[in-house]
Amino acid sequence: MTLVKMHQVGKVAISKVLLCISLLLFILFFTGCSGQSAALRLKAQDGKMDLTRVTFTKDIIQLNGEWELYWNRLLEPDEIDPKLMTGYITVPGSWNKYKTEDKTEDKTISGFGYATYRLNFNIDVNEKLALKIPRLHTAYKLWMNGKLIASAGTVGKTIDTTISQYLPQVAFFEAKQGNNEIVVQVSNFHHRSGGILERINLGSEEQILRLRYNRLANDVLLFGCLIYMGLYHLSLFFFRKKDTSAFYFGMFCILVGFRTLLVGECLLIYLFPRFSWEIAHKLMTLTYYFVVPFVLMFFLSVFPTYFHKRMVRIAQLLAAIFGLLILFTPARVFTVVNPTYQIWSIIAIAYILIILIKINIREEKVSWLISIGASAFFLTSINDIVFVSTWMNDVGPMFFRSLFRIGNLSSAGMLIFTFANSLLLAKKFSDSLEKEEIAMQKLTEINTNLDKIVLHRTEELVDSNEKIKQQQTELEKVNTKLQELSTVDPLTKLWNRRKFDEFIYVEWERCLKHQYPIAVLFIDIDFFKGYNDYYGHLAGDECLTKIGQTIRGSLSSFTDMVARYGGEEFIVLLPEKEKEEAISIANGLRKRIEDLQIPHKQSSVSSFVTVSIGVTYTTPNDNQESEDFFKAADIALYQAKAVGRNQVKFLYEYSG
Ligand code: GH3
Ligand code: MG
Ligand code: MG
Repeated sequence: MTLVKMHQVGKVAISKVLLCISLLLFILFFTGCSGQSAALRLKAQDGKMDLTRVTFTKDIIQLNGEWELYWNRLLEPDEIDPKLMTGYITVPGSWNKYKTEDKTEDKTISGFGYATYRLNFNIDVNEKLALKIPRLHTAYKLWMNGKLIASAGTVGKTIDTTISQYLPQVAFFEAKQGNNEIVVQVSNFHHRSGGILERINLGSEEQILRLRYNRLANDVLLFGCLIYMGLYHLSLFFFRKKDTSAFYFGMFCILVGFRTLLVGECLLIYLFPRFSWEIAHKLMTLTYYFVVPFVLMFFLSVFPTYFHKRMVRIAQLLAAIFGLLILFTPARVFTVVNPTYQIWSIIAIAYILIILIKINIREEKVSWLISIGASAFFLTSINDIVFVSTWMNDVGPMFFRSLFRIGNLSSAGMLIFTFANSLLLAKKFSDSLEKEEIAMQKLTEINTNLDKIVLHRTEELVDSNEKIKQQQTELEKVNTKLQELSTVDPLTKLWNRRKFDEFIYVEWERCLKHQYPIAVLFIDIDFFKGYNDYYGHLAGDECLTKIGQTIRGSLSSFTDMVARYGGEEFIVLLPEKEKEEAISIANGLRKRIEDLQIPHKQSSVSSFVTVSIGVTYTTPNDNQESEDFFKAADIALYQAKAVGRNQVKFLYEYSG
């Protein structure tokens, strides 16, 4: 990839990520600020709220603002005396770090303790209204116009007399024209933060019920989806153990899904009202703590080259340490260290987001899908962390508190994340299926073509085979020609001396083996030099040819053999011939040549061409060499020449 291209791809990826993040932020803000009608922006001041202009059939009012606080007192409505008031406290918000205005003991208060809250509000007409009461930290009793209408847990002045419980609920009451009074006793000895940390909503029965049902439906839907997705991914892992990412993701879904029951509308408590607050709180915190390592393990398994193993190890270690702390300490202790883990999880989220952006810039076609999901989940998680963060409630600036207004968004973010991941999985599956299909197609093509290819190759082979055969026969022809050339005398067409040497070797051995007689005739033309000189070389050749053919024509047995031995000399080999027979053949030959009557003016023994013949004969034995035998014939010929030519001379075997 060229640098320019990389740059372009990176740009596209960044813009995609930025788009996703800004979209999510927008949603976050939108949901956080939605429904901010004029009525909603009403705030209590000095413990009073004027709601005379509110149409409750239309608007739900958040009872935010300054409430009267009676610190260290559990007062019933008829016991309230403004003189006892400690001051005004901002709701929602914990009472931690609240500065009491008591001159005698000027100090900030901790999360533990008890107090009574009071708010007065005015309305226009008598109306049936309802309150949507969130989780209060951590036990409360609520009176409306002197009538106890809601409670959760048992309010007490000591840790032993207090039973904590989170129980978001709806309470109905008859609001009367003019002033109405809400009195809330709150005590907390179990959680780090005490007081009214979430908003109390006021509206018509219908509106408040709708709000409650919406939230319940939301929670149930999220719970169902997350558990279902979790089980789905876990079963994927079950069938394909290699796919650890499915396991981590499945665990992650199950944890967050289960957590949905414990946060928001606290469905678990709704289903089991006597469920221990302590255990519920432990479970809620544990699920949150374990989500961090699982999400990191998931990302490490999906992008092993980008995420650092060390980071995952740290996450596992921290989750283990904090998990043990939750298991072995009560909530009032472990909630103190909770902010530390929250900071760690924000670091982890930042780490993951940074790496995801890096991956998006670098490459990875599908990573943007995960990135959108992850961004959704993480941003909503940050919202949740900050929202439930006691630290934020204690000291957080107002801006942040108003920015992060909705708790339990992370489940929805999680749902987006899950959906994105499922899309990714689906894409993976369909991609691999498509690959398989293409591979199959290719295979079939190759298979069908294979026949053709084989046929083609076979034809080629047959062709080349035939060519080779042709070349071979041609070669053979040339070879025989060559052999002939090397064994046949070109002038007389008789065997040459080479062939004769081979032949005599074979015949000698044969006659030696079977003890056959063998005879040889050495024939030399008389005065042939003179013939050549007189008649010319061409006539000499002709004469040689004629004599050669005459000799060949005279031989009767198929074992007899004649060769041109050289110049004007011929040699005849006669295996299995006795001496007399050999001499008679020699005489016959001499006569037949003379009878050819080839004129020869240079001959001093005849007027025609004549030959002298040396004959020898033997039955070969082991002491004898064929060369000696042959020499005898040569000597016999020499004798024939010496005694007058044109005659046959016989000589027994030559010895030395
Ligand atoms: P002699 O009776 O003692 O055998 O006498 P000669 O002349 O036949 O013997 P010599 O060895 O003196 O001569 C052989 C001659 O044969 C010499 C050469 O001119 C002739 N000759 C040898 N080979 C060929 C051939 O292939 N063609 C022709 N035309 N003449 C040949
Ligand atoms: Mg000669
Ligand atoms: Mg001669």
